[in-house]
Amino acid sequence: MSKMNINIGPNEMQPISCKECDGMYFRQVMAINKVSKFLTGGDKDTMVPIPVFRCDDCGAIPEEFQPVKMKTK
Ligand SMILES: [Zn+2]
Repeated sequence: MSKMNINIGPNEMQPISCKECDGMYFRQVMAINKVSKFLTGGDKDTMVPIPVFRCDDCGAIPEEFQPVKMKTK
């Protein structure tokens, strides 16, 4: 039996709605993080796309969907 096999009932489903406008529909966009070539050892900087969902109505990004904050160094 797989650990990933989870029975999800209607009671466990929690629709996420936008905190700003109560919208329930989200659009997937990509945040692109750049990884320096000095870290990867490659010729060029590496672009890492990170999928993010934003409210289709007002464009707000729920906290759950915020991409990992870039560390400033
Ligand atoms: Zn919204």
